[in-house]
Amino acid sequence: MKKLIVFTDLDGTLLDHYDYSWQDAKPALDQLQHHNCPIIINSSKTRSEIEWLRNAMGNTDPFIVENGSAVFIPDQYFAAQSGDLTIKRFGPPREEILEILARLRAEYNYEFIGFNDMSADQVAEVTGLNLEDAAKAKERDATEPLLWNDTEIRLHAFISRLEASGYSVVSGGRFYHVMGTVSKADSIAWLMNAYQNQYPDHELLSVGLGDSNNDVPMLEAVDIPVLVAGVHGKKIHVKRNELIRTTALGPKGWNQAMQELIAEYL
Ligand SMILES: [Mg+2]
Repeated sequence: MKKLIVFTDLDGTLLDHYDYSWQDAKPALDQLQHHNCPIIINSSKTRSEIEWLRNAMGNTDPFIVENGSAVFIPDQYFAAQSGDLTIKRFGPPREEILEILARLRAEYNYEFIGFNDMSADQVAEVTGLNLEDAAKAKERDATEPLLWNDTEIRLHAFISRLEASGYSVVSGGRFYHVMGTVSKADSIAWLMNAYQNQYPDHELLSVGLGDSNNDVPMLEAVDIPVLVAGVHGKKIHVKRNELIRTTALGPKGWNQAMQELIAEYL
């Protein structure tokens, strides 16, 4: 028996770039649910941002937050697990990130402003989120996004100093995300192992769907990588021969590719 374990990015992949709707992916989502295949959200978003969405979608599977920094597993989801919603971390907690940022700022007078330095109003202003979503984006577990207000040369030195201390910096549009040395791939191996223990008689196939550079580690880690066409039009380089590229954008492409995979494998 085969089972697809689906890992998916949100913005521009499962969610439409403009209106954040997943309605175009609904047929494939329903089919996956019918086949009892888990759909694991794997996003740069925070726990409270993702929790809201997965409740709205009726999703009850584990989810990966903040670019692979941690997995949240619902109570009793895996047979071997007990207790409340479990967090499995793959990098340091945010307090540790804030500490090193404060230290670097004190020592070198770097000019930057992070979400922790901003009120929810300010986060709303710089991100374009509404106030409620900005508050959710401020509740972080493992990463700190910041706006760089200093020179390019000092930015390079800042990043080198963070990397030398075991942290990484991911550029995501306007913001630089400071985090541990983790990627969207780390948590996939861990979850696949948990699923294999849960379903010892199944042949598991991991599917990954993403549209951007920060999805590349995920696309390189899964059995079946799907690069969803994005409105950004950027060339995304994935070192995989068997990469599936959708022609339709976002959730439409998601739906197309997943329906074909379901027909092929289930
Ligand atoms: Mg995306």
